[in-house]
Amino acid sequence: MPEKQHPLKASVNTANPEERYSGIGASRGIAIGDCYSFVKEQGNHEIEALNRKDIGEEIERFLSALHRSEKELKKIERVTTRKLGKGYSDIFNAQIMMLHDPVLIEAISNRIRTERKPAHIVIEEEFDKYLEMFRKSDDQAFQERADDIHDIKDRIIRNLHIRKLHSWIPEGVIVASHHLSPADVVLLSRCNIKGFITDTGGKTSHVSLICKSLNIPIVAGLGNLSQKVSTGMPMIIDGSTGTVVTNPEQATLEQFRTKQSEEKKHVDDASLTAELPATTKCGVRITFFANIDFKEELLALRSSGAEGVGLFRSENLFTDGTNVPKESEQYSCYREMADTIAPMPLDIRLFDIGGDKLIYSAVKELNPNLGWRGIRILMDMPEILDTQLRAIIRANTNGNIDILLPMIMSLEEIRHVRAMVDRIYAELIAETDLQIDKPGLGAMIEVPAAVELIEEITRCVDFISIGTNDLTQYTLAVDRNNVIVQDLFEKFHPAIIRQMHRIISAARSNHCRAIICGDMGSDPLALPFLLGCGLRRFSVVISEIADLKTEVSRYSITETEALARECLAIDTAAGIKACLERFQAAH
Ligand code: PEP
Ligand code: MG
Repeated sequence: MPEKQHPLKASVNTANPEERYSGIGASRGIAIGDCYSFVKEQGNHEIEALNRKDIGEEIERFLSALHRSEKELKKIERVTTRKLGKGYSDIFNAQIMMLHDPVLIEAISNRIRTERKPAHIVIEEEFDKYLEMFRKSDDQAFQERADDIHDIKDRIIRNLHIRKLHSWIPEGVIVASHHLSPADVVLLSRCNIKGFITDTGGKTSHVSLICKSLNIPIVAGLGNLSQKVSTGMPMIIDGSTGTVVTNPEQATLEQFRTKQSEEKKHVDDASLTAELPATTKCGVRITFFANIDFKEELLALRSSGAEGVGLFRSENLFTDGTNVPKESEQYSCYREMADTIAPMPLDIRLFDIGGDKLIYSAVKELNPNLGWRGIRILMDMPEILDTQLRAIIRANTNGNIDILLPMIMSLEEIRHVRAMVDRIYAELIAETDLQIDKPGLGAMIEVPAAVELIEEITRCVDFISIGTNDLTQYTLAVDRNNVIVQDLFEKFHPAIIRQMHRIISAARSNHCRAIICGDMGSDPLALPFLLGCGLRRFSVVISEIADLKTEVSRYSITETEALARECLAIDTAAGIKACLERFQAAH
């Protein structure tokens, strides 16, 4: 592991030339430090002989990873049987049997003991023997089994990894990885990571959004940079511009240090006025709420100027991607959050699992973003939905919680959940003497079908929340995580601009509260257009609120309405952007 040094000294490297790379700046901030090359598949750490005293613990770790893997597989097997039938779930039974194979367990434990190698290396090697055998087989069925063996190997190593991750990563490094999952980022962030660089991902990938929430800079979409950098390499990353500098020279370091302190000063200055209410130049009140991924973020809620939580991504309670949090855990979390911010509102979005988020999916989907995700999983798994609704409703003793439904594409979905909320509320009132209010129900508008049904939806719910990240993805058919098409992921595409106007107008005419919680809401360029369409509520990541409030005070509503009319008449994204930039420059 690299030693901790003074970052300035640590980062000057005369032997290797400075190199610059350009990626997607997905969470702002400058990080200066040493790189840590995070290679997930290999369990990510140096091969060092184990100390004799650690051997027992390593074997223990291997056995508990087996146990954890079995628990996961059993759950997946149950879901698969229910959803797809027994034929599909047999595969998981076969994987579970493999976890019990005494020959394999003995071989791995023995090698850890005698060769003093870390468990992940031995697992890798032992499973690779099987893989080799299966892949070489002439029998097609055996060749196909190879993928399962690969899967189970990855699962066991991931489970080892979850327990050990903390101690592998030195504090204060910039983590470089080909790909990271939201769960990786959450786990790694606990090691005081300074920043992340990834080969994959884009501005609105969930990993990037979580980094924004955690205030950690990330540069995504870097192609294959993770293969070119190595642990200990001095590095600078700029999460606003997407710049990565390796082996920076002294002059470059100084330049970025200056920028870093200017940014810090800007943030400090903005936070002085953050708590003041936001009003336009003509006195119209605009409300900013916070998008929250973790309850810990609430500590900064009041000082950020947020007037409540417009989006709590409750799926982040799935700590390792598979374990559904118990009702009691959920209840304590929601209750604590609601109590902390009362009387300010708390909009809890039901688990939006699937897609590129924390994974519950029982089968490998070729196209997960168009697959089993959000409300679809909840409708298919009534016990998960029931438990979550019960926990939320029980927690609503202050009357400040509302429920938000992810990935809505039909009225049936809304009616289904409403009926469940009504039933659970009635049951809770009958069985306890708790004073609880029935939470309001909101629909995420993030699928084009919901835009088509916007009149009906806004008459059927208490509020809507516009999820422009998914709405852009699904309207333009551009995967929000796919680097190859990131330049086509364009929120100023005329189709999106017109949808925004249509959604906000329908909400206004049907007296339905409308809020934006997608990333477009935190773009200063989009702000006057959205105000001009009639939007008055924004839910954004905490660190953006202060700046946006200042922006709001630059505009009057009449001017923004004229701007919105102008944008709606333009037929290209470039034209719309140019129009918005002219407007911004003139104010
Ligand atoms: C969105 O899609 O815009 C949204 C806010 O939801 P998420 O980013 O969590 O998918
Ligand atoms: Mg979404």
